[in-house]
Amino acid sequence: MLDEIDARQELEEKLREQINIDSLTGVYGRSYFLRLGDLELKRSRREGSSLFAVMIDIDLFKNINDTYGHPAGDAALKHFAAISKECLREIDVFGRLGGEEFALILAGADAQEAFEICERIRVSLEQAAVVTEAGLIELTASFGCAESNSKDKNIDSVLNRADKALYEAKSRGRNRVVMAGEISGGLLV
Ligand code: GH3
Ligand code: MG
Ligand code: MG
Repeated sequence: MLDEIDARQELEEKLREQINIDSLTGVYGRSYFLRLGDLELKRSRREGSSLFAVMIDIDLFKNINDTYGHPAGDAALKHFAAISKECLREIDVFGRLGGEEFALILAGADAQEAFEICERIRVSLEQAAVVTEAGLIELTASFGCAESNSKDKNIDSVLNRADKALYEAKSRGRNRVVMAGEISGGLLV
C-alpha cells in the first residue's frame, strides 16, 4: 500500500515536472509547448479538423533592452504574454520558445479566424504601451501563420513554415501578420 502511494506520488511529481511553465511569463515553456503541439496535430488528423501554427517575434526588442534596460525588457515580455492571453480562446496553446519568440497552436480555426486572432493580439499590443520603471515602452510584434497539411509529421514542420512567414513579416516592415499561403513565389506551399 505504501509502495503504491509512493509510486503514485512519484508519477505525479514526474507529470508536474513535465509541465514546464516559463517562469517569467507564465506561459508554456518550449519543450512542453512542442509536446502539446504534437498532440494537437495528431488530434486534428484524427478529427479531420484544421490546425494553424503561429510564430511570433517582438519587433526590435534588442533596442528596447538597450534603451530601457534588461528589467524593463522583461516587463515588456510579461506585458506581451498578458495581452496575448486576453486575445486567445480557451483551447489555444500558447508558449514561449525562447527569448522574445513565442508561438501559438490554433486548433479548429480556419484561415480567417487564425488571421483575426493574430491581428487582435497585434493591434492590442500596438495600442497598449507598457508602463515600466524605466518609462513607457511601445511594443509591436510580427506574426507568421501556417496551416498544417497531411505531410506534416510533427508540429515542428508546421512551425517551420510559420517561421518563414514570420521572416516575410519582418522583411515587409514588421508589426504585421503574414499567412504562409499568401507568400508569393511558391516559397511556402
Ligand atoms: P527583430 O525585429 O528583427 O526581431 O529585431 P530584434 O532586436 O527583436 O531581434 P534580435 O533577435 O536581434 O534581439 C532579440 C533580443 O532579445 C536580444 C536579447 O538580448 C533579448 N532577449 C532575449 N531573451 C530575453 C529575456 O528573457 N529578457 C530580456 N529583457 N531580453 C531578452
Ligand atoms: Mg528574435
Ligand atoms: Mg525580435
